Amino acid sequence: MREIVHVQVGQCGNQIGARFWHMISNEHGIDQTGKYVGNARDQLDRISVYYNEAAKSTYVPRSIQVDLEPGTMDSVRSGEFGKIFRPDNFVFGQSGAGNNWAKGHYTEGAELVDSVLDVLRKEAEGCDSLQGFQLCHSLGGGTGSGMGTLIMSKVREDFPDRIMTSFSVVPSPKVSDTVVEPYNATLSVHQLVENTDETFCIDNEALYDICFRTLKLPSPTYCDLNHLVSLTMSGITTSLRFPGQLNADLRKLAVNMVPFPRLHFFVPGFAPLVARNSQQYQALSVPELTQQMFDAKNMMAACDPRHGRYLTVAAIFRGRMSMKEVDQQMTNIQNKNSSYFVDWIPNNIKTAVCDIPPCGMKMSGTFLGNTTAIQELFKRISEQFTSMFRRKAFLHWYTGEGMDEMEFTEAESNMNDMVSEYQQYQEVSADESAFVDDEEVEGDVEFNED
Ligand code: GDP
Repeated sequence: MREIVHVQVGQCGNQIGARFWHMISNEHGIDQTGKYVGNARDQLDRISVYYNEAAKSTYVPRSIQVDLEPGTMDSVRSGEFGKIFRPDNFVFGQSGAGNNWAKGHYTEGAELVDSVLDVLRKEAEGCDSLQGFQLCHSLGGGTGSGMGTLIMSKVREDFPDRIMTSFSVVPSPKVSDTVVEPYNATLSVHQLVENTDETFCIDNEALYDICFRTLKLPSPTYCDLNHLVSLTMSGITTSLRFPGQLNADLRKLAVNMVPFPRLHFFVPGFAPLVARNSQQYQALSVPELTQQMFDAKNMMAACDPRHGRYLTVAAIFRGRMSMKEVDQQMTNIQNKNSSYFVDWIPNNIKTAVCDIPPCGMKMSGTFLGNTTAIQELFKRISEQFTSMFRRKAFLHWYTGEGMDEMEFTEAESNMNDMVSEYQQYQEVSADESAFVDDEEVEGDVEFNED
């Protein structure tokens, strides 16, 4: 079985990670002590992708919890599913990172990283055939952002042929008022471009807007935002966790979704959108579900796909429904919106159906788009970065930890380059594409299956 090792880093990483384990444990019939109490065969078929079997019918998340301060770890441990984690897999320091990427990446984090790698190697050694890693973190703080990307680069050295993915929470001033977040996020993106194969962009700006505008919550809390995050994470990982054909492992997902190695930042979407603690009152039809999944209002990254073009799309439907109707709807979407899909990647929408819906829902849909419109998100962060960096504001906090100003300049241009690359592929059409001549075009997309 192809196992995944999960790592959650920093406050946000641990909070969304804990919600992820809670939600998928419910879906797989695993209770708070790790016992299987479910009733459907499919729940256990691929349980070893995310869990180790400890004793007969007892499952332990293959998860490592990391932070530079003890507080978040305590709240994970005392949470509803806190007892399910392996106690040795909590790795933490005492110093904190004070929202400083340099502390996470170069100083405090660098001191703790070897202990993390020890635990991680032990988990990897216990695997039959490891497919890769998923790391969840925020990009705006210091630990998840700085140390999270440090962990990734070390893991990449140790496991160069395994897939590295991240669930990355993008900062927004609507949610947090720490001014240096654009610095931390830009330095992180600079790392993610090189060191992950797939990054799922979960944007606090979009989560806030969904809570406020669609769910009508007047002052959304992290708890409200994280409910959306956990629905999204459970949706995205459905095809990895349940039996089925499409995108059944991280490498297949990458092969289908990533036409050029640098452009691997995905916009997730989810339907139907329901607030935490409220029920889904209306039964949805397949056409309604499909329409919502593709709606800009249901996207978890603040960008409008109608302002760009899709390079690739994966859609996962969950629940009992007619395959034929799903196929019809998906064909319909493509035919009606063909101008929003690049015409030089034929069949760039892939669809999967999984019988088992998320707990408490009859049916749901998860959307994953590799859209050139994501440049809107990068532009937003880049503008915030540049306005401070132009005056070198707050830079001494970073140089004080030994960082060079040069790294800021490089991170800034890497992000701007990425915006231009997306723009370039947005404009190119089928008959011209043959003439675009740069190294990305011949990217090392592997079509071998293993
Ligand atoms: P770290 O512990 O140093 O990694 O710092 P944080 O994870 O607290 O990073 C701060 C950023 O994460 C800010 O952009 C916050 O808005 C965001 N953040 C913190 N906690 C959460 C959370 O539980 N959910 C979400 N969606 N964002 C969070």
